[in-house]
Amino acid sequence: PSDTGRVLSIQSHTVQGYVGNKSAVFPLQLLGYDVDPINSVQFSNHTGYPTFKGQVLNGEQLWDLIEGLEANDLLFYTHVLTGYIGSVSFLDTILKVINKLRSINPNLTYVCDPVMGDEGKLYVPEELVHVYREKVVPLASMLTPNQFEAEKLTGLRINSEEDGREACAILHAAGPSKVVVTSIIIGGILLLIGSHQKEKGLKPEQFKIEIHKIPAYFTGTGDLMTALLLGWSNKYPDNLDKAAELAVSTLQALLRRTLDDYKRAGYDPTSSSLEIRLIQSQDEIRNPNVELKAERY
Ligand code: ADP
Ligand code: PLP
Ligand code: ZN
Repeated sequence: PSDTGRVLSIQSHTVQGYVGNKSAVFPLQLLGYDVDPINSVQFSNHTGYPTFKGQVLNGEQLWDLIEGLEANDLLFYTHVLTGYIGSVSFLDTILKVINKLRSINPNLTYVCDPVMGDEGKLYVPEELVHVYREKVVPLASMLTPNQFEAEKLTGLRINSEEDGREACAILHAAGPSKVVVTSIIIGGILLLIGSHQKEKGLKPEQFKIEIHKIPAYFTGTGDLMTALLLGWSNKYPDNLDKAAELAVSTLQALLRRTLDDYKRAGYDPTSSSLEIRLIQSQDEIRNPNVELKAERY
């Protein structure tokens, strides 16, 4: 762990708007990281719009890029970050990439956002769930599922904070020492639950952050959140609660700005999903003002 690092970020690219690498690369760079993006897809815009066009990278093409890097001795990374992945073959190749990079740097940190769905709906092929569960989670250092994804990975129904904490414990047992359930709604309140198991077999240190839910729907926030959690938890390796406070604080300031801008333009923010104001929020990325505090359990 140090103040900086070299991150291989394998995520979507959109020409317009901010999801995937478009919402992860810039903030990580602002926090001082070298970021090497591999674009797992290149789409015109995110898939929440009425239509989109573009290309999808397959597993062989991903491996090709890795071989190119290897041929020049360019495969030393401190971190790998992965987000939305659309096929089993691509996910299998990601596993191959992680193993390869760990053979070069045994201390490689793998931060995995197991993107599978939201609000009870799966938006990846069903076979992916099994691969995440059996093969990907065991390799991850930090996992950032939402409520639905945590349920899919553990088989638990999460109806309470206790259930959320239990899900984290189950995930620790499968591999990752850090787990952050980034959004979970309990009794109408938006919560983040974080859990850090500092040593195998030890009881994890757990906390929550209560977040004021903004009545609008944003895309790219999950990808941004995971990138910020990587960035801050590397700087504060023993304080996942602090890393989460910093990440949540950036998110809240950015979402407030996004909402204000849309309203100022005379736009109804509840009518469709909003593009986040990422570039305009660079000060809040670099120097978040912590308003929401983590509460230790
Ligand atoms: P995912 O896409 O993985 O389901 P979300 O985008 O729901 O994750 O949430 C990631 C983070 O973004 C949350 O932890 C929260 O800080 C912020 N966030 C997203 N949507 C809202 C919202 N409507 N109101 C307040 N915060 C939000
Ligand atoms: N990647 C692509 C191509 C998308 O279309 C989307 C959402 O539409 C995302 C990633 C994920 O966005 P979020 O961070 O809101 O989960
Ligand atoms: Zn997500």
